[in-house]
Amino acid sequence: MGALHGTGEALLPGALRGTGVTIREAGPDDAVAGVPPRWVALPENTGEVATLMRVSAEHDLAVTPVGGGTRLHWGPPPERCDLLIDTCCLNQVLEHAAGDLVVRVQAGLTMDSLAETLAAEGQELSLDVPLDGATVGGVLATAIAGPRRFRHGTARDLLIGVTVVLADGTTAKSGGKVVKNVAGYDLGKLFTGSYGTLGVITEAAFRLHPIPDDRRWIIAELPTPGTPGAGAAQGARGDGRPDAPERPGSPPGLDVLAAELAASQAEPSAIEVDWPDARGGPVVAVLVEGRAADARARAVRDLMAGHGTARITTGPPGWWGTLPGEDVLLEVRVPPSRAGGALRAVMARGLPAHVRGSLATAALQVTLPPDVGGSAFAEFVSRVRDDLGRLGGGLTVLTAPQELVGRVDRWGPVGALPLLRRVKERFDPGRRMSPGRSVGGI
Ligand SMILES: Cc1cc2nc3c(=O)[nH]c(=O)nc-3n(C[C@H](O)[C@H](O)[C@H](O)COP(=O)(O)OP(=O)(O)OC[C@H]3O[C@@H](n4cnc5c(N)ncnc54)[C@H](O)[C@@H]3O)c2cc1C
Repeated sequence: MGALHGTGEALLPGALRGTGVTIREAGPDDAVAGVPPRWVALPENTGEVATLMRVSAEHDLAVTPVGGGTRLHWGPPPERCDLLIDTCCLNQVLEHAAGDLVVRVQAGLTMDSLAETLAAEGQELSLDVPLDGATVGGVLATAIAGPRRFRHGTARDLLIGVTVVLADGTTAKSGGKVVKNVAGYDLGKLFTGSYGTLGVITEAAFRLHPIPDDRRWIIAELPTPGTPGAGAAQGARGDGRPDAPERPGSPPGLDVLAAELAASQAEPSAIEVDWPDARGGPVVAVLVEGRAADARARAVRDLMAGHGTARITTGPPGWWGTLPGEDVLLEVRVPPSRAGGALRAVMARGLPAHVRGSLATAALQVTLPPDVGGSAFAEFVSRVRDDLGRLGGGLTVLTAPQELVGRVDRWGPVGALPLLRRVKERFDPGRRMSPGRSVGGI
């Protein structure tokens, strides 16, 4: 257990001091999306987090959990923030049952450190994380997933157990002790994507996979829409139906290509798209891993050959698994068979948009230049949302300068909002956990 230290010791309320957890006064660098906390606590285990949360409940302190702090400034600012619970000292691998392909870790462990530990046994957690320094807790709380979500699912699918500390200091485990006030809830599913608004994730257990011994990428450059034979890049018609050939003999649309790849016996692990400029065509890259990767890659190349020039490489394209930009970043989601329509909705708006993401699962990220202008941005968001709504999807603003994000509803319509509000009320009735940081001001 850490000792109390810090220049602000005399200012600490006695109760916080009495926890015995390492606590320091907050500085300007600790601000959460511009809101400065008063103190930062550095607990080393679930018990210490529970003690901190009990004291916070008694003294009505608002709490925000922090992992690597890589993108803490994204998302709306909290309504208030007294105590930052920094999980940097919750960084242990608690158990690696290599024979069972299972690992249990503390939530502040970085994904890089976890990968290093698992690689020593030839295993991996099959999640691709775009940012160095991200922690297990941060990845779960923001529900991010990379290219291989197509084959292995997202963090939610790979998570087999989670330990959380709730706003009142109660420790709850999925699959373990049943806690009365959370009985009946699937904690893993609830806390994945909770943005720190329901409680602190302190431990997580994941299903693992052996590291594949071979990998191939098949990369196809598709023609520019509007050029002869460019049906593949034309995208959907925006009417909610999947793409179809524009005319007899033209190549099938992106949705058809994605469906063919997804159903292919080559069993790709990821099907990604990068479309940097509407004046050119999209690039589609497919990953195959494991046994007979070379032969399977050739089968994918043959399948893609009708859509554009396809080549096989032993390394990923430079953009693989990275964000297209970070000044203005939006997330677009539609049902998996409608990615082509979503791409078209974004690229046909006449703004210099750049789209990247999973063609197979239709989770795409869009970046715009920061000097796009407030009204152009607001119109873009509104029109793209209309088109995506017709496709059964939506758009979220992940990050943008205040002069842009202030012009729009960051989250857009969310059907499950009443349910999410009830969950928040049940888990955090005092609104002390990162209040206002999630959808609908939750
Ligand atoms: C609102 C928001 C949305 C994001 N969406 C995306 C996205 O769609 N794609 C993408 O690539 N990146 C996204 N990010 C960036 C994401 O933060 C990083 O990619 C990385 O996963 C975060 O890891 P971290 O450890 O640095 O977390 P931090 O940056 O420290 O925290 C990120 C969020 O997770 C919460 N959090 C952290 N640890 C815990 C914990 N132990 N228990 C409970 N809550 C915790 C924080 O309160 C904060 O809301 C998003 C970030 C935010 C804040």
